[in-house]
Amino acid sequence: MTFSRILGHDRQKDILRRAIDSGRLAHAYLFEGPEGVGKRLMALALARAVICKNNAGCGVCPACRKVDHNNHPDLHLLEPDGTTIKIEQVRNIQKELSFRPLEAPMKICLIDGADRMNQAAANSLLKTLEEPRGDALLILLSARPESLLGTIRSRCQRLPFTRLPQDTLKGVLIEQLGVDEIQGHILAALSEGSFKKALGKDRDLYLKQRLEILKTLTAFSPRSVLPIFDLAQGLAEDKDRLPDILDILQAFYRDLLLYRHGRPECDLVNIDLLEKIRRVALKENTAALLRKLEAIAASRRQLDRNVNRQLAMEVLLLHLAA
Ligand SMILES: [Zn+2]
Repeated sequence: MTFSRILGHDRQKDILRRAIDSGRLAHAYLFEGPEGVGKRLMALALARAVICKNNAGCGVCPACRKVDHNNHPDLHLLEPDGTTIKIEQVRNIQKELSFRPLEAPMKICLIDGADRMNQAAANSLLKTLEEPRGDALLILLSARPESLLGTIRSRCQRLPFTRLPQDTLKGVLIEQLGVDEIQGHILAALSEGSFKKALGKDRDLYLKQRLEILKTLTAFSPRSVLPIFDLAQGLAEDKDRLPDILDILQAFYRDLLLYRHGRPECDLVNIDLLEKIRRVALKENTAALLRKLEAIAASRRQLDRNVNRQLAMEVLLLHLAA
């Protein structure tokens, strides 16, 4: 991975390139911003630029190839083991960092999901940050930097990452996935500027399953609630995807609200369902739509608290379909 192959984030690339060129890299960085926007790719590009024998992250020297194959002896990756990063993991890294670099000008440690360090691990890492060595570079990545110890944050140079503009993401999706304009628009809108979401397992959910979910919801009749219960059960089974499913529901009811208030159709997410949106919007009013959006937000909060998922989805879907 090189800086030039990363899409967007030009300001961040610039800052890092200039720091390398002037020999003024910080001893620790905190790349902070939403999941899946390219923080880890940027960290790997930075590592390669530092480690490269040609000082450019050329991609062809043996050092660059080792970085790409994840077997460079001076590049270490730390990520959660299960749900947290534990103190033993931090101690192992500290031991590594106590040796001189073997091949590169410095040892580099990438800590992905840094906010998932438990208390002991965080306190231990703090010691390393308090006593920086000239030949070690730490790169912390976090989607929830507010969960990190304030003392850790303040000892890192912070580099914020924002979501990619929807049009940039759409262009890349059309080019890389071969999807059409409409699908590119929907994927980009639902993945909220996250490459990881748009390119990963959510693609099918956003393009195909979304149609089935919305079809069942909008075909609801008070005399047959069974399809809604079946849908709730199916959705509740996949815990990891529930937040993304709520995103789909939210986007649909937001579309209805925007449509009712005369926003142009190209501003909507579900531009492949315009006929359905026109039809359903006629039956809804603003107050009811706002209540439905609030119900979706409430479900999101409930699911964060580990309530009975199926029950929560049944209540929500019945509310939305009514
Ligand atoms: Zn190279």
